[in-house]
Amino acid sequence: TIGMLALDANGNISGSCTTSGAAWKLPGRVGDSPLIGAGLFVDNEVGGAVATGLGEAVIRTAATTITVEMMRQGHSPAQAAKLAIERIMRVHKNHPDMPNLQVGILALNKDGEYGGHSVRSGFNFSVCNSDGNRLEDAKFRLK
Ligand code: ASP
Repeated sequence: TIGMLALDANGNISGSCTTSGAAWKLPGRVGDSPLIGAGLFVDNEVGGAVATGLGEAVIRTAATTITVEMMRQGHSPAQAAKLAIERIMRVHKNHPDMPNLQVGILALNKDGEYGGHSVRSGFNFSVCNSDGNRLEDAKFRLK
């Protein structure tokens, strides 16, 4: 999955994501990426979040929705993503998916603050300005 979040000069937030789905998926599987509130959620009053990784875990927890709701309650994007990842880990504690579970969440708020968190290492994100120039390459934070 590639997830993108953008903040324009007027303070409007938008988001999108692409995915190739899961390896060896069953025909007809719908992952998290096409489901608003799972793989992608944006509320222009607050901010947006995108997810990558095991879509079933993201759907079960409405992970990007809760990330945005955490930001609404005053958490920074990094903290909100961390709280959502912790929720996923709690929900999946005894789940058969847990040994290999990987989910990453990236979040952006109306002030232009951003952050990402993931269950395991391996995800990176880039920050670009409106000219498309790369300002920063960062890793998703872990615990
Ligand atoms: N989230 C996607 C899915 O489960 C997989 C991915 O991250 O590429 O469909």
